[in-house]
Amino acid sequence: MTSKLDSHQYTLRDKASCCGVGLHSGRNVNLTIKPAPVDSGIRFLRTDLAEAEPLKAHMDKVVDTRLATTLGNGDFRVSTTEHLLAALKAFGVDNADIELDADEVPIMDGSAAPFYTLIKSVGKKRQNGYRKALRITQEIIFQDGDKVITISPYDGFMVAGKIQFDDSLISTQEFSFELGGELFEKEVAKARTFGYVEQVEELWANGLALGGNLGNVIAIHWNRKSVLNEDGLRYKDEFIRHKVLDLVGDLALLGCPVLGKVSAFKAGHAQHLGLMQAIADAPHCWEIVELKENGEHSVLHSIMNDTKEAAHGLLMPFLAPATLPSAA
Ligand SMILES: [Zn+2]
Repeated sequence: MTSKLDSHQYTLRDKASCCGVGLHSGRNVNLTIKPAPVDSGIRFLRTDLAEAEPLKAHMDKVVDTRLATTLGNGDFRVSTTEHLLAALKAFGVDNADIELDADEVPIMDGSAAPFYTLIKSVGKKRQNGYRKALRITQEIIFQDGDKVITISPYDGFMVAGKIQFDDSLISTQEFSFELGGELFEKEVAKARTFGYVEQVEELWANGLALGGNLGNVIAIHWNRKSVLNEDGLRYKDEFIRHKVLDLVGDLALLGCPVLGKVSAFKAGHAQHLGLMQAIADAPHCWEIVELKENGEHSVLHSIMNDTKEAAHGLLMPFLAPATLPSAA
């Protein structure tokens, strides 16, 4: 069995910082991404909270999926994680510590491009440890009304999205791409978040999305035929490209690389979480493999044989099936 993924883990070469407003609060947030050791994964740290434990970027820490994906543990919350996590995933960073001095990741321009540019500017460093990947062996389906999201076997990580809106501006859009290579940077990273202008106004009236403005969100005109942003769209199908970006960022919360093909129809943050929970509930449909130099991989017996507590410190803390499926 082979896979297209690089077998080694990576972190950043050096720390990288930026500053921007929080979408919810409208206040300035300072962000620093730092290199981290092998097998530590992506973790959030709050420099404004004394003695707070680092919060792992993991699906079992999701506390809210409205507007954006919010992670939390007690008083420790971090909102709008998806665009930053998408950039780290697409650039191939496995281990990093993300320091913030507020409870949200800055929205920047509403896309992942500023984060991607930032981490690319410092570069990534290969680490002395192999990647453990979640390899899908049988299709898993999550359905929520007319919203459907599936993941099926594939030897890389392919992401496909489709949306259907009633207006003529968005209408039906489809987009798919494979992670690795330059497609994310060129075709996906710059796609911005979007909303109908009256939705944005309603959020403001309720004291939400105070940092949202035409510099970081596409506002769709009341006439449903154009956008209020003076420079228009960055891609004709920017809407589905942003949905696919969100999907990559949310699925990063599985905590390890994925070998599978995801197809999402009308899905948002809540359905992305639904799929991850469906994966957790279906251990017979996947296995954890360690990637090897020559593109091969081996099923990791050790994780399966560990206690659940021991497995919790590894990349897939949410389950360790009692019996190992037949080795690939
Ligand atoms: Zn988004």
